[in-house]
Amino acid sequence: MNTPDIAALAAQLTAGEISSVELTRHYLDRIEANNARLNALVHVCPDTALEQAAASDARRARGEAGTLDGIPLVHKDLFCTDGLPTTCASNILRNFVAPYDATVVARLKAAGMVLLGKANMDEFAMGSSNENSVFGATKNPWDTTRVCGGSSGGSACAVAAGLAPVATGTDTGGSIRQPAALCGVTGIKPTYGRVSRYGMIAFASSLDQGGVLARSAADAALVLQAMAGIDPADSTSVDLPVPDYPAHLSSSLDGLRVGVIEEFFDQGLEAPVADSVRAAITALESLGAQCVPLSLPMIGRAVPTYYVVSSAECSSNLSRFDGVRFGHRCEDPKNLTDLYTRSRAEGFGAEVQRRILTGTYVLSAGYYDAYYLKAQRVRRLISDDFRAAFEQVDVLAGPTTPAPAFKLGERNDDPVSMYLSDIYTVAASLAGLPAMSVPCAQVDGLPVGLQLIGRHFEEAGLLRTGYALQSATDWHRATPESSS
Ligand code: GLN
Repeated sequence: MNTPDIAALAAQLTAGEISSVELTRHYLDRIEANNARLNALVHVCPDTALEQAAASDARRARGEAGTLDGIPLVHKDLFCTDGLPTTCASNILRNFVAPYDATVVARLKAAGMVLLGKANMDEFAMGSSNENSVFGATKNPWDTTRVCGGSSGGSACAVAAGLAPVATGTDTGGSIRQPAALCGVTGIKPTYGRVSRYGMIAFASSLDQGGVLARSAADAALVLQAMAGIDPADSTSVDLPVPDYPAHLSSSLDGLRVGVIEEFFDQGLEAPVADSVRAAITALESLGAQCVPLSLPMIGRAVPTYYVVSSAECSSNLSRFDGVRFGHRCEDPKNLTDLYTRSRAEGFGAEVQRRILTGTYVLSAGYYDAYYLKAQRVRRLISDDFRAAFEQVDVLAGPTTPAPAFKLGERNDDPVSMYLSDIYTVAASLAGLPAMSVPCAQVDGLPVGLQLIGRHFEEAGLLRTGYALQSATDWHRATPESSS
């Protein structure tokens, strides 16, 4: 079975050509054969998966199954899953079993999807390479000496390598789009507020957003449809109707105005990636889009702004892990301070500690105005740039990453070079805009992504653009050799 899309799998299920139990077994076998090499999943649940699949087959036999019913998936290991480990790839939550399902998990379960397991990630979603995981790095299926990006690296790897047809991920500053680009899959981060954050363990609450990593825009549309929408349990989820995403897909881009972000074609962008992205933009033109160059002057400030804001929020969010209420507690604490310090020092990895320290610093009295408040002001200016751009165009386009997947270990000693992997993704996160990465080329056998950014709540326009490109090109169908 060569990595078919969800619609094809659903058609086979409906026609009775395959059962959900058989499909689930197929993916469990692929996990069994490949996970030791790739380290994409940190927990596999074959027994419950097969039970869910059998229940789905029974529903289908009664004529009660929708499109996603019986389709397997994996969740990034920061979505709480009732009765299963939810670790955030951190020592501090290593033994944590969530007592409830995140809303995303509950909604996809209600749609009948079958949970295969939990995907590896950077600890607490902090990272761009999936090397900051207590379970070890996830390997890129196109070249296992390279990173698969982060923080949703396990999700991207699982989909690219055919260990699951689709996966959930989260994106705070690029963690869906960047690994999607480096692994050659389609990833969409919806508008902030489109998908409930309830039960999604927080990194930076004003930026975190759940989304989908899939084999195509059409698959992403189906799964996003089932995840999105207001949730009374998340006061930042927005009460707007969720459009019928699959119904908005179209292979023509007539009338679509696409702005090409000039600042993204800077010196840091590797030439073959620039050429590939420009070729994809030309392909959008041949599908009917009208492409114009466009400048976003403040976008160069996005990386420092993001690292001030996200670290500040992380220091506040992660204060709940104190050795008392959740997760790891040190042995024989001498007193309360010793309990806090040792539990946290033993529980958090180096990058998470770096973020907590930076965040605590920028929020401290005396530095708050100089760093945190200033970053919030720049955040507003970046949003204003986008607002002005969207008066002229419908979608913005550019590269997702400056280069294809880099070597494992290459950037570990240099946090700033690691942070610069997000140079093209963080701005959309700061502005809360929906953004997507679609595979658009290969450079030396490694995938390259085209990034598309849309107006607030216009995910449908992004999915339509990605779908049109995928109707005309085959990059999204490419699979690493070992996955066919
Ligand atoms: N790589 C970025 C960071 O380390 C973004 C992470 C994310 O989107 N979760 O913060």
